[in-house]
Amino acid sequence: MKKISVAIDGHSSCGKSTLAKQIAKHFNYIYLDTGAMYRAVTLFAINQNVINKDDFDKDALIEKLPEINIEFKADENGKVNTYLNNQNVEEAIRTMRVSSFVSPIATVKEVREKMVELQQKMGSKGGVVMDGRDIGTVVLPKAELKVFMTAKDEIRAQRRFDELKEKGIDDTFENVLQNLKERDYIDSTREESPLLKAEDALVLDNSELSRDEQLEILKSWVEERGKL
Ligand code: C5P
Repeated sequence: MKKISVAIDGHSSCGKSTLAKQIAKHFNYIYLDTGAMYRAVTLFAINQNVINKDDFDKDALIEKLPEINIEFKADENGKVNTYLNNQNVEEAIRTMRVSSFVSPIATVKEVREKMVELQQKMGSKGGVVMDGRDIGTVVLPKAELKVFMTAKDEIRAQRRFDELKEKGIDDTFENVLQNLKERDYIDSTREESPLLKAEDALVLDNSELSRDEQLEILKSWVEERGKL
């Protein structure tokens, strides 16, 4: 079977990265979490005081962009972690503070250009699964398989809420729901590469699907495209 590129886009918190990781493992592909990269830029902005209470200094961020180095490295158990300037930030980029600033930061053209360039470099050889918001439309427009994932708002918020609780991060369900609605809105309406279903993407609505069911569906799509 030919090694293909798989682009997974969709709304916030519908399980894109979980599914993308499972698929990458199954087919022995490289997995790239592009959301983690925008989160790492946001953490950098917070650490550099580019973000104030509820706004950020776009020009200062653009000026500091060359100082940002993002990498993915696997630990001894094979778990891949996100590194920002040689520091493991895998946990630090998942907080609600980062979540609440990441979508505004991801609207900045210069930030997107830098991330897309890196992503295209990392995914240039095929045999890759990338999840994000603009993978099928901008990063890998020639991907053999494009998937657009979604699920009902309340279901996505409940899953995210449970995940945060499991990690010991305390927040209310209402805050989580509001944050994901806000992120979807900003992601879908921004000028620079908005979240759009690529014309040739297959839709996967997992509101009523178990993780195993959605995995089986995606596996069959990858196998089908790998034969073409
Ligand atoms: O995937 P995740 O929810 O971790 O992504 C965090 C945020 O990064 C998204 O809400 C979106 O604003 C931004 N993002 C993006 N383009 C991507 C991946 C993520 O704009 N390819």
